[in-house]
Amino acid sequence: MTLLNVLTVPDPRLRIKAKPISVVDDKIRTLFDDMIETMYAEDGAGLAAPQVGIDMRLVVIDVSDSAHGSTVFKMANPEITWRSNEMSICNEGCLSVPELRAEVSRPKAIKMHYLDENGTLQHIESDDILATCIQHELDHLDGKLYIDYLSSLKRQMFINKVKRMKKYED
Ligand SMILES: [Zn+2]
Repeated sequence: MTLLNVLTVPDPRLRIKAKPISVVDDKIRTLFDDMIETMYAEDGAGLAAPQVGIDMRLVVIDVSDSAHGSTVFKMANPEITWRSNEMSICNEGCLSVPELRAEVSRPKAIKMHYLDENGTLQHIESDDILATCIQHELDHLDGKLYIDYLSSLKRQMFINKVKRMKKYED
């Protein structure tokens, strides 16, 4: 397996609308594994392909806890088909906006479907942390980041902090 380089804001590759994949093959399965290894190495709960510079609609999610067990989701071409009117607020973070967090309001419950690592269509209904995580990761596939839900002032402040952080690292 290979560790992938996670892009951070304001990298323009985080703003692409990623393309659907045509078939889940060995190449995609390897990519899923690399994304999962990268997610764990960076201590994240989810990772979308555009975050590692890959223009494909692929997402991995691990919200392992007592309610969800130790399921790791590998999702190709995921799509949300229903969102509740009821909202919930969650304190979100993102590997592309490292070391910062902010509260974001999103629909509390969703229904969605995706192709799993075998190319089988799977359906999920969730009204908890998994729903939040799915919405956050699927936003990445459309070039959207959680900081887009914040005020423009706060968003710019976050981007500037990440830029400064990266400068010290280089
Ligand atoms: Zn993210």
